[in-house]
Amino acid sequence: MVKADAALRAAAKRIDRLDAEVLLAHLVDVSRLKLLLWPWQTIDVDAFDRLVDRRAAGEPVAYITGQREFWSLVLRVTPDVLIPRPDSETLIEAALDHFAATPGPARVLDLGTGSGALLLSALTEWPAARGVGVDTSDAALRIAAENAVTAGVDERTTFVHGGWDAGEGVFDLVLCNPPYVATGETLPRDVVDWEPAAALFAGADGLDDYRVLAPLIAGYVAPGGVACIEIGSTQANAVTSLFAAHGLSVALRHDLAGLPRCLVVTK
Ligand code: GLN
Repeated sequence: MVKADAALRAAAKRIDRLDAEVLLAHLVDVSRLKLLLWPWQTIDVDAFDRLVDRRAAGEPVAYITGQREFWSLVLRVTPDVLIPRPDSETLIEAALDHFAATPGPARVLDLGTGSGALLLSALTEWPAARGVGVDTSDAALRIAAENAVTAGVDERTTFVHGGWDAGEGVFDLVLCNPPYVATGETLPRDVVDWEPAAALFAGADGLDDYRVLAPLIAGYVAPGGVACIEIGSTQANAVTSLFAAHGLSVALRHDLAGLPRCLVVTK
């Protein structure tokens, strides 16, 4: 048998030390903190090595453990869905600000819901809200539906298979993290080899999906409502122009790194 601290030291020579801690905590089913407080416990080193091998081969930690935290939720993720990024929490912060002095949105639409991260976060923030999650991937919708059950909001959630125009009706809050990476852009191998290309790439300039979304968004947003739309950090001017051309007002919100990350779109 091998003790946890020795196993971690060995693993840290092959993969990032933090990744090793997360994988070992997952294996022994304790929190990372508890693992670090208990370094002398013995572990199944063969099982741990198999996880470390997968990470060393490039598989993202979230797909190995099958979960990722986002906002206040622990979401199940598989290679059928994009791994939720902390950057996307900027959209939830923007929505919270927009509805700060109000009872909150009653109807929420999440276009390209993936794991359900944005929709389910919104529904946990506003317990009276009902939400619709749209995605072109049936596999993603199954994961999102599972996550809705875990988050305890499934009775307020509907999932719809379809593209950007598949939402029906108007919504107080529209959330959308579309693909926005230019096809020629080089992404880290663990992203491009593992995460769904359909959730990442959007044509030669990365703007293809915004071109389709811009004319649709005005129709989705109810009076007094808002659309919070994620953008790539270099796309603020280009995407603002696309939405402004449809008569929408656009403000920008920055992520924790100080980069423009969210268009706050109102009518
Ligand atoms: N932020 C993602 C990245 O790692 C891109 C997600 C997206 O295209 N919506 O590049």
